[in-house]
Amino acid sequence: MPHTLLNSKFPQVGTTIFTVMSALATEHQAINLGQGFPDFSCDPQLIDSVHQAMKNDQNQYPPMAGIVPLRQKVSEKVESLYGKRYDPIQEITITAGATQAILTVILAVVRPNEEVIVIEPVYDSYVPSIDMAGGKTIALQMKPIRNDQGIIESYALPWDELAQSINPKTRLIMINSPHNPTGMVWQAKDLDRLAELVRPTNAIICSDEVYEHMVFDDALHQSIARHPELAKRSFLISSFGKTFHVTGWKVGYVCAPQDLMTEFRKVHQFNVFTVNTPMQYGIAAYLEDPNPYLALSHFYQKKRDYFQAGLKNTQFSLLPSPGTYFQCVDYSQLKIPEAKLNETDFCKWLTTEIKVAAIPVSAFYGKSNDENMIRFCFAKKEETLNAAIKQLQRL
Ligand code: PMP
Ligand code: GLN
Repeated sequence: MPHTLLNSKFPQVGTTIFTVMSALATEHQAINLGQGFPDFSCDPQLIDSVHQAMKNDQNQYPPMAGIVPLRQKVSEKVESLYGKRYDPIQEITITAGATQAILTVILAVVRPNEEVIVIEPVYDSYVPSIDMAGGKTIALQMKPIRNDQGIIESYALPWDELAQSINPKTRLIMINSPHNPTGMVWQAKDLDRLAELVRPTNAIICSDEVYEHMVFDDALHQSIARHPELAKRSFLISSFGKTFHVTGWKVGYVCAPQDLMTEFRKVHQFNVFTVNTPMQYGIAAYLEDPNPYLALSHFYQKKRDYFQAGLKNTQFSLLPSPGTYFQCVDYSQLKIPEAKLNETDFCKWLTTEIKVAAIPVSAFYGKSNDENMIRFCFAKKEETLNAAIKQLQRL
C-alpha cells in the first residue's frame, strides 16, 4: 500500500456510471446512448441571449440567490403551469444545476443520523449527498410489475413500504417524477397518498422535477407545486440543462416556502455563493417565450416513438416510458449468450462489441439488483438514433 495522508472518507464511492460509460463509448467509438444528454444544438437564440449579456458587461457576481429577472421568470413559469406562486425574492434560488440544488437541500435539512427516504432505482447523486450530510438513508424499492414470463413491464411506487418507513424520525423524502431511469411519472393520486402519509410528521419533501417538460401522451406533469398541502413542506428542483438542451451549462433552480428557502440559502451562499451571471441573463431573456419549453414534450415524444418503433422488431422488451428522455429495455430474451450477462457486463459488451453505449439500471441501486434492465437515452438526432437502431437490430 503506498503511503497516503488520507484514508478515504468515502471508500465505497467510485466514479459515476455516466462518466464511466461515456469514457468507454469514446474509447470504443460507440454511439453514446448512455449518459443523458442531447447530441443536438440548443436554440441559437439562447446562445445569442447569453452572448448579448456578456457583451452588455453582465459579467460580475450576481445576487446570491440569482438575478431577479430570472427568478421572476421562474416564478411566472411555475405559476402558469402549476397554479402556485413562489415569491421570486424570498422563495426562489438559482443553482448550479439540479445536482448542486439536491446536495444543498440535503445539507441544509439533514442532521447526522436523521432518516432520509429514497426510492430505488434512484439517481446516483442522492445517496452520496445524504452520506456527506451524515444522514441515514432508508432505501425502498419500486415494485416491478412482471408479465407471464417474469419480465418487468413497469414499476409501481412501494406504498406499503413507504407507509411503514415514514415515521416521526423521517427528516427528508426524495422523490423524482418523471423518473430517471424508469421514465415512470407520478399521478395526482400519488401526491394525495404521500400527503396522507407525511401529514402526522415533520418530514420535508425534495421533489426532483428536472424532466418536468418531458411528459408524454397528453398527460400533465404532477408537480409538487400543484399540491398546496405538500408544497408547504417541499423543495421543488428543476434544471435548465434538460429543458433547453444545455446540460453543460449547469443552471437550475429551487422553489420552496420562505422558511425552507432561508435555510437553503444559508448553505448555498457558502457552497457556490452564486451561479454564473451571463447565463442567468441569457436564460431570463429566452424565457420571455414559453413555446420552447411548452413544445418539449411533443418534441421528445416523437423521439421516444421513433426509438421505440426502431426497437419493435428486436427481442428487447420495452418499458412504457411515459416521461423523461430515457427508454429502459429488458435484454433477457435476446437469443445470444450475452443475454445471460449481468447488466454492467452487458452494457460494457454492448458498448465495445455492438458499439452502442447504455446504462445498467443496477447502478441506481445500493445493493446488488440485477434485472437484465438497461437504459438508453433517446435525446439524439435522428441519424444517431438510426445508427443505434441499426446496430441493435443485429442482436
Ligand atoms: N436529477 C436527475 C433525476 C437527473 O437525471 C439529473 C441529471 N440528468 C440531475 C438531477 C442533475 O441535473 P443537473 O445536470 O442540472 O445537475
Ligand atoms: N443525469 C444524467 C443521466 O442520468 C447524467 C448526469 C451526469 O453525468 N452526472 O444520464
